[in-house]
Amino acid sequence: MAEDTIFGKIIRRELPADIVYEDELVIAFRDINPQAPTHVLVCPKKPIATADHIGEEDEAVMGRALRIAAQVARNEGISGEGYRLIINCREHGGQEVYHLHVHVLGGRPLGRMLGSS
Ligand code: AMP
Repeated sequence: MAEDTIFGKIIRRELPADIVYEDELVIAFRDINPQAPTHVLVCPKKPIATADHIGEEDEAVMGRALRIAAQVARNEGISGEGYRLIINCREHGGQEVYHLHVHVLGGRPLGRMLGSS
């Protein structure tokens, strides 16, 4: 299990968030510092710390997270033009919050893969 994080507090409603979807396995809320017109985080409720911590027992929740990420993109109206899903892992991946989450980014052209910083 991961240490408690800011996302654990959002899941338990101890911190406010702009929640756009929730079910028994995942929650999706808008990023507080959006990097694109649409920037939503889809977060397993189970506190998996990083992508490196995904176990065989997590296949269902990770499948749900990806399906809901695509559903969020459709609901946000960005599916037709396309979008990007990102999971950052640890330091070199630029991970800040150690509770695994899928970034759903779109609403403008995002360029090729990686930025400069
Ligand atoms: P990562 O770098 O992949 O761990 O992404 C963490 C993301 O969480 C960043 O894009 C932050 O802007 C976002 N974030 C941090 N705190 C909050 C919060 N309270 N509500 C929503 N998003 C947050």
